[in-house]
Amino acid sequence: QDTDSDDIFKSLNKAQSRAVSSLASTVAILAGPGSGKTHTLTSRVVWLIDHVGIQPCDVIVATFTVKASNEMKMRIGQALGGGREKKIVIGTFHSIARRYLARYGQHIGLDPKFGIADDSDSTALIKRICKRLDTQLQPPIVRSWISKRKAKGTSNEQPATTKNDKSVESQAMEQCFQEYQEYLERTNLLDYDDLLVRCVELLRNYPDCVRNIQTVLIDEYQDTNGIQYDLMKLFAQANRRITIVGDPDQSIYGWRSAEIKNLHRLLRDFPGTDEISLEENYRSSSSILDASLKVIQQDQDRYKKVLLPIHEKCTRPVLRKLKSSTTEAEWIVSEIKRIKLASGDMVKSDDVAILLRSAALSRHIESALAREGIPYRMVGGFKFFDRAEIKTLLDYLRVIHQPDNNDALARIMNAPKRGIGDVTAKSLLEEADRNHLSLWELLDKHCRGERTAKTNIRKSVEQKISRSLIRLITHFQTRLKPSEGTPVNLVDIIDELLKALQFDKHLEETYGPEYELRWANVQEFMNLVAEFVNQDRPEEEMLPVIEGAQQMSDDSVLARFLANVTLASEKQTDKDKGKPQVTVSTIHAAKGLEWPVVFIPAVYKGSIPHMRSDDENEERRLLYVAMTRAQALLYLSCPLYTATGGKEAAQISPFIDNVPSSTFLKKGPSFDRPMMSQVAKILRRELPPDSVIYKSMPMMEAVEDSLFPIDPTQKEQSSNGHGYSQRPGQYKRQKIQHP
Ligand code: ATP
Ligand code: MG
Repeated sequence: QDTDSDDIFKSLNKAQSRAVSSLASTVAILAGPGSGKTHTLTSRVVWLIDHVGIQPCDVIVATFTVKASNEMKMRIGQALGGGREKKIVIGTFHSIARRYLARYGQHIGLDPKFGIADDSDSTALIKRICKRLDTQLQPPIVRSWISKRKAKGTSNEQPATTKNDKSVESQAMEQCFQEYQEYLERTNLLDYDDLLVRCVELLRNYPDCVRNIQTVLIDEYQDTNGIQYDLMKLFAQANRRITIVGDPDQSIYGWRSAEIKNLHRLLRDFPGTDEISLEENYRSSSSILDASLKVIQQDQDRYKKVLLPIHEKCTRPVLRKLKSSTTEAEWIVSEIKRIKLASGDMVKSDDVAILLRSAALSRHIESALAREGIPYRMVGGFKFFDRAEIKTLLDYLRVIHQPDNNDALARIMNAPKRGIGDVTAKSLLEEADRNHLSLWELLDKHCRGERTAKTNIRKSVEQKISRSLIRLITHFQTRLKPSEGTPVNLVDIIDELLKALQFDKHLEETYGPEYELRWANVQEFMNLVAEFVNQDRPEEEMLPVIEGAQQMSDDSVLARFLANVTLASEKQTDKDKGKPQVTVSTIHAAKGLEWPVVFIPAVYKGSIPHMRSDDENEERRLLYVAMTRAQALLYLSCPLYTATGGKEAAQISPFIDNVPSSTFLKKGPSFDRPMMSQVAKILRRELPPDSVIYKSMPMMEAVEDSLFPIDPTQKEQSSNGHGYSQRPGQYKRQKIQHP
């Protein structure tokens, strides 16, 4: 078996090899983007298993996204062979924590059927609490305060307001927190932060469940927060072997309490850490790397490191200004078509990503892609699961899984219509609260004829609820229990649920003409379920059985599905599955990934840096992360007028404005053969023979015509207030001005 693990060194440089086979118990690899950190981490896992002889089930690997962990698992699998990678405990911090809690949670008094409150649940709950307590506090501020408070972990001070601070505001905040937490506990829900907090509690009090863990490896370490740091240490408590890889320049989760300080803590807590730096960038052309470094180097306080390109120069990144967000989107689409044609299809839609600062910017891009019939997938923070019809369906599944989820139950009580009005629903909720019962327990009591002391619910309502809701939920709970010999088929069961609810009729009644669109979403949801079921490997999700450590809880396919829906941060919709697709993603969700061609639209002040962010350095790092995803071609663009409102003049992002203008091309390059050969070389691909390539692709005329001068003074002089004349022919193209 050593032959396999010897093979892994062939694809590693000296520093990478040293990191892979370091014998130190703690290894820290800090290096820039594209230097092979993830590649090295993956290789180290293989080496530890194959060469050192560590059992796969005794390895924990924390990655930043579910997608990254799947990819890593596949890579490790290829190197190891024999399906051994399946036993590795690999996933995001949240998903690993969920697994431990589902298995051992009862040790800390957790009901094994706990549900997970997602962002919108938490926000809605806090809104309600703020309203009830009649505070002046803004719910989003309370939410982030609570989250920060939980995410700090043990080793740090609490948010300022809790330290002997008796101000009205801090007391109100504290009270919101108390109520919020009590409510979650009563309804058997954990929010994202709780998953980590409770897992820390579990591993502290019950170290046996990680007694087997030999080694812990963490990717994207720069984005761990305090509680994740605690968790990492606890995972590794049996013998303190840890490998971390990260890049402080790519820390982009400060808003979620990620702490760059964690690096110093690691070095302090684990003396003798083997620190290794990687200094070569294997990803991008030197032109792209050069432009990216010019952006990040504006940060005066950063910890400087060396990053040298392996690849040669290629065409410079493009910086383009366009009339509006609509023309910007059209231009992007026309460039995508031009690249595909000019490369003789060596570059396909799959090779292209459009990276956005916020999901809200996607509208123009989506419609331009759709108009031209270019398939695309949306990744990260898009609202598919928040659509009303999907949420209702998910609420049913959540109640079936865990009926104490009051909010979900209250939302589905009258959807589809059961003749239970809002007033009745509200008084039921209040009655439950008064009697310290969950809504489910209360309804159940009513239906069994046991009345609570004070009730003003009519018998007829009780019957309605009993007949249509309680029975339905109970029926599906039974359906989901695996009976001997027949495994649970989640797709069939949800299909049955749709029929039992007459969900299509419900949508038709509720949405009228919009019905078809809504139903299409439900079908898309069913595709997602089917896809999940296909990929679900319960035996892989299982933690190893540890002798002497009592495992108590159980984990069902429904629990895994719901956790997957809530925890996959890179939520993705996929209408054009199977075809090559352009990726439209938030920058946050693009972390760690790479594409031959990257577009970054809307590079203006207010978008990046974002108007709601108060951390300019983090916004700059975000742009740096986006730019360094590109391998061969990088396009930045900015509309003259912003997407929101449409009338406001956009100023190019200062992060770009401060870079010498000679760094960028002002419009798309002309793709001649020598240039395409450079692209092919960077991508390590074969360029198709000359004959099939359009030698010199013209730029799209229509789009080219709609380009406007970039001179900011010009737009003030214009007569119609839109910054351009009604007779575009008048304009000569002018240089982009960089003060
Ligand atoms: P990021 O900071 O963006 O996460 P990273 O440091 O994790 O980047 P990787 O994604 O591991 O970088 O590697 C970037 C690219 O370089 C990948 O395509 C990888 O296969 C390639 N690569 C890494 N090391 C080598 C090497 N020694 N030889 C050739 N290619 C390499
Ligand atoms: Mg990486």
